[in-house]
Amino acid sequence: MPDYDLFVIGAGSGGVRAARLAASMGARVAVAENRYLGGTCVNVGCIPKKLYAFAAHYQQDFIDSAGFGWQIPKPAILDWETLKNNKSKEIHRLNGIYSQILEKSGATIINGNAKLEGPGTVSVGDQSFTASHILIATGGWPFVPTFSGSEHVLTSNEIFDLPRLPARMLIVGGGYIAVEFAGIFSGLGTEITLAYRGREILKQFDSDLRAHFMQEAARHMKLLMEIDVKSIELLENSKYLVNFSDDSSATYDTVLYATGRKPNTKGLGLENTAIVTNNNGTIKVDDKFRTDEPSIFAIGDVVGHMALTPVALAEGMVVADTLFGDGRRQISYDNIPTAIFSHPNLATVGLSEQAAQESYTDIAIYESDFRHLRHTLSGNPERTYMKVIVDTATDKVLGMHMMGSDAGAIIQGFATAMICGLTKRQLDATIGIHPTAAEEFVTMRSRAR
Ligand code: NDP
Repeated sequence: MPDYDLFVIGAGSGGVRAARLAASMGARVAVAENRYLGGTCVNVGCIPKKLYAFAAHYQQDFIDSAGFGWQIPKPAILDWETLKNNKSKEIHRLNGIYSQILEKSGATIINGNAKLEGPGTVSVGDQSFTASHILIATGGWPFVPTFSGSEHVLTSNEIFDLPRLPARMLIVGGGYIAVEFAGIFSGLGTEITLAYRGREILKQFDSDLRAHFMQEAARHMKLLMEIDVKSIELLENSKYLVNFSDDSSATYDTVLYATGRKPNTKGLGLENTAIVTNNNGTIKVDDKFRTDEPSIFAIGDVVGHMALTPVALAEGMVVADTLFGDGRRQISYDNIPTAIFSHPNLATVGLSEQAAQESYTDIAIYESDFRHLRHTLSGNPERTYMKVIVDTATDKVLGMHMMGSDAGAIIQGFATAMICGLTKRQLDATIGIHPTAAEEFVTMRSRAR
C-alpha cells in the first residue's frame, strides 16, 4: 500500500485547499513545502500587497480630509519600519493558521524540496514517499529578462522588505504587479517612474478602462511608454544609473522588475514522468487537471490558466473531488472577475469591448465617467469610470468594467449576476443604493455607442 493517497507538492493557496478537502473526504494526504506555508499569495503577493495598498491610500485620504474640515499636521510621515514589521507579524500569524488548518485536517506537512522520482514516488531530501496520486501546486516565480546589469533589479519577492523606503524607484512592466506597486510606492511617498515596452499598460484589459486609468496614473507618477531598459550600472553612491532604449538615462534608488511570472518547475523531476509542458513552460493538463502522467495532477500558476488565487482554490477543489468525491465539480473560466489594487482600483468581469466585437455582431456600450460624491468636498480631481457591454440581440450583459474606489468589491457582486445570465433589462430593473458609486451600474439609460 502506498504511503499516501495524495501527495501535494506546494503549500500555496491551491495546494492547501486540495489537501484539506481531500483529507476531509478520508484521503491520507501529505503536503511538501520548501519555503513558506501559504505560498506567494500569503507571503509575497495578495496579502502583503493589499496591506501596503491600505497604507498607501492614507496619504491621499489625509489630503482629501482637509476639504471635510480635518486639519492634519503636514507633512504626514510614514514610518516604513512599523509598516514592514506589522506586515511581517500578520504574515507570520497567517503562516501559523495555514499550519494549524493543515494539521487539523489530518494532512502531514513535510518540509523540504520535493522531487518526482517517478509516477508514484516523491523524494524530499533523503526521504522517499510513495503515493497513489500526486498533485503539483508549485505556483510561479518572477521572471526577469537578462541584460547588462539585470542582477541589480528587485522583484515582487524582495520589494516588501526593503531596508528603507526608496526616494526614487523605476518600475518596469505594464501588468498587474507593475501597476499595483507603482500605486503603492507612490502613495507611500516614493517618486515613481513606470516604464513599459508597449504603448498602453494593462494589455489584456478594456481599452477605455486602460485609457482612463493612464490619465489618473499620470497625475501620480511618470509614465514612460514604448521604452525598454538597455543596461543598469551601480554607482558609487549606491544608486542605479538606468540607460533606456531611447538613449536617455536616469538614476534611481531601486529598480523593480514586474515583467511576468514563470511556472515553478525547476528541480521538480518532471523528466522522470510522462508529464508534458507547453511552450511557455506551464504543465499541460486536461479539464480535470490530470497531466499526461495519469496519476499526477497539476493546478494553479504552474498550469497558468489564470494566475489568480481564487482560480487555484477552485482548481484544487476540482482535483480533490475528482479523486475522492463524486467527480462532478467543474470550473468555468468564463466571467471570472478580477481586480487590480491600483490607485484608483480597477476591476472587470466578462469581455472587453474589443473581445466582444470579435464574437458578437452588434454590441451596445453604456458608460459613466464622473467625480465621486466624496471628491466634491475633498477637491480631489480623481474620476470614476464604469462601462457595461451588452449583446443587442439577446440583451445579455457581456462585460462590466470599473475604475474607482472599491471597484473589486462592486464588480464581485455583478459577477454573480453575470454568471446567472444578467441582462441589461435586469440591470435597469434593479433599484440603486443611493448615494453610492455602484448605483451608476443600474442607472445607465442611454447608449454611448
Ligand atoms: P503580467 O503578465 O500581468 O504583466 C507582465 C508585464 O511585463 C507585461 O506588461 C509585459 O509586457 C511585460 N514584459 C514581459 N516581458 C518583458 C520583457 N522582457 N521586457 C519588458 N517588459 C516585459 O505579469 P505580472 O508579473 O504583473 O503578474 C503576474 C500575474 O500574477 C498576473 O498576470 C496576474 O494573473 C497575477 N496577479 C494578480 C493580481 C491581482 O489579482 N490583483 C496582482 C498581481 C499579480 P506586454 O504587455 O507587452 O506583454
